[in-house]
Amino acid sequence: MPDELPDLRAMTLADAEAFAVACGWQRFRGEQVWRWVHDKGARDFDEMTNIAPAMRAEWATRVRIGGLTIAEVQTSRDGTQKLRLVTHDGQSIESVLIPDGDKLTQCISSQVGCAVDCQFCATAKLGLVRNLTPGEIVDQVYLARRLVPDRRITNLVYMGMGEPLHNYDALVTSLRILCDDKGAKLSARRITVSTSGLVPKLERLGNEDVRPNLAVSLNAPNDAIRDAIMPINRKWNIGKLMAALRAYPLEQRRRITFEYVLLAGVNDGLDHAAQLAQLLRGIKCKVNIIPWNPHPESPFERPSPEAIEAFQSETKRLGLPTYLRTPRGDDIDAACGQLANRAQGGGAIVPLRVKKRGPAELPPPPNVD
Ligand code: SAH
Ligand code: SF4
Repeated sequence: MPDELPDLRAMTLADAEAFAVACGWQRFRGEQVWRWVHDKGARDFDEMTNIAPAMRAEWATRVRIGGLTIAEVQTSRDGTQKLRLVTHDGQSIESVLIPDGDKLTQCISSQVGCAVDCQFCATAKLGLVRNLTPGEIVDQVYLARRLVPDRRITNLVYMGMGEPLHNYDALVTSLRILCDDKGAKLSARRITVSTSGLVPKLERLGNEDVRPNLAVSLNAPNDAIRDAIMPINRKWNIGKLMAALRAYPLEQRRRITFEYVLLAGVNDGLDHAAQLAQLLRGIKCKVNIIPWNPHPESPFERPSPEAIEAFQSETKRLGLPTYLRTPRGDDIDAACGQLANRAQGGGAIVPLRVKKRGPAELPPPPNVD
């Protein structure tokens, strides 16, 4: 299968229709093959049984159906499943399925690794290897659907490996594909994009035609702490971030989610809780408190249960809606911030660029736009 052919899985419906027209065919031919891939989950032209074999063969000379392969599925004692998926060029990414009563949430990756370098995050240790294509982003959903055919994936979160807004065009294309009611038929209201806070891209996202929910990894109540644990803050500090979020065009009855990874002795004091409540005053939001999930080579510690409880109580007392995220799949390194391609039985798939650095020694500002 020649790699240089355009990838049908990375096309929106409009792209596929335009492609058919450019081939000299009727527009509906584009919709026909596109629906097979994005609605019915076909992985090969041979599955497209209502298309004449000669036409299928014709398509196969002009486009490919790119995708991922499942290399490994690990199941946690709490039912969480972590999928290790491999791209056509041998890169490994991870996607996690989290059952919660009637809900089944899938956490998907947007990049191989990540360039943002948050000090507490395992994915940061990989550095950025490459962006995922829109086809590789949506195929995580299609493969998971095949893996659990008897269950519906109800919610989707872009909270796996990578910074989605650093792969902006692929993010938006993947959202258009997944939310198309002729394709995967997901509702944007049940999709959340999580970002470390790339201000110019946030401004763009607010004006797109597909409008997912927004989650922002805040993780600190002031610039001094955020500078130390999230170097991106030195480019877009809390003031700039909050200004962009206050201007963000939220749809009715929606609110911004702030993620706050709780790190013992760093950002978990009652004074930090008070600063956080003050900072978020007047913003339609909720806060997800995520006690830090451990991973090797990290200088941080998870606060004690008492400290976590005290922090949450204080934020609630001050009027901030806060929710405590209990770690899911932590026994298989599938919890937030633990995704770093450690295969079961050891061995990193992508070479780990392990950095031994404490939060006090600050890395150079990242080269991000
Ligand atoms: N890059 C995006 C999305 C992926 S990270 C972002 O940063 O928003 C998803 C979430 O996991 C972020 O809120 C991040 O703050 C959190 N996280 C990262 N490492 C963590 C860890 N070790 N323990 C708990 N949460 C972590
Ligand atoms: Fe990247 Fe998000 Fe991890 Fe920061 S927390 S390094 S932005 S994946």
